[in-house]
Amino acid sequence: MKQYIDSYQHKGLRKRLVDLLRSKGISDERVLDAINAIPRHFFLDSAFDLIAYEDRAFPISADQTISQPYTVAYQTQLLQIKKSEKVLEIGTGSIYQSSVLAELGARVYTIERQKKLFDEQKDFVFKSKYPNIKFFYGDGFEGLSTYMPFDKIIITAAAPFIPPKLIAQLKPGGMMVIPLDEGEVQRMLRITKNADGTLTEESFEAFSFVPMLTGKNS
Ligand code: SAH
Repeated sequence: MKQYIDSYQHKGLRKRLVDLLRSKGISDERVLDAINAIPRHFFLDSAFDLIAYEDRAFPISADQTISQPYTVAYQTQLLQIKKSEKVLEIGTGSIYQSSVLAELGARVYTIERQKKLFDEQKDFVFKSKYPNIKFFYGDGFEGLSTYMPFDKIIITAAAPFIPPKLIAQLKPGGMMVIPLDEGEVQRMLRITKNADGTLTEESFEAFSFVPMLTGKNS
């Protein structure tokens, strides 16, 4: 049974991580505060307890990864989350990115295609702290038509193309942050859906994600 202890040592390491993210160019203090508030080591196997605050991706179940803190901060900053916004996340993974969004006051709808990872939300340590996260087992390419439209959409896996159904589920004025596959790496894009339905695309840094795959995995 995993012990959930957030010691002074963890807090100190976390503070240093936040300083590092700031020095790497993350400037939204609300995003940095959210990262400072969430014990990342709770989302990892206890073997990673003291390295959890290195700016690195780590393995989680089902051969997937928890994103690097810089990547989480970068995508979250691009999303410009406002309190109570409806946010769709593709790729729940460790629930860390979902928690950062929830800490910022978003109403989070997160989809995971790996059954094993989806099932882990039953034991999610912050279930009562973040009742604003709703979990779904499904294929992110389909989105969640029942709950549309969304103010923001975040994809946390390497997308081979811009999923048309997700664009359709975005509110006019809404934004999607998507790492679009370019072969070896992915280009971070922010796509804004204008009031007339046209799209504006902005291009940012390159990142490396696990692939966004179609269908569900039992
Ligand atoms: N946001 C996660 C990152 C996990 S890595 C975190 O903070 O830990 C990306 C995740 O996307 C993996 O768990 C993978 O299984 C999931 N994924 C890949 N393709 C998907 C799809 N089509 N629909 C839903 N989830 C998908």
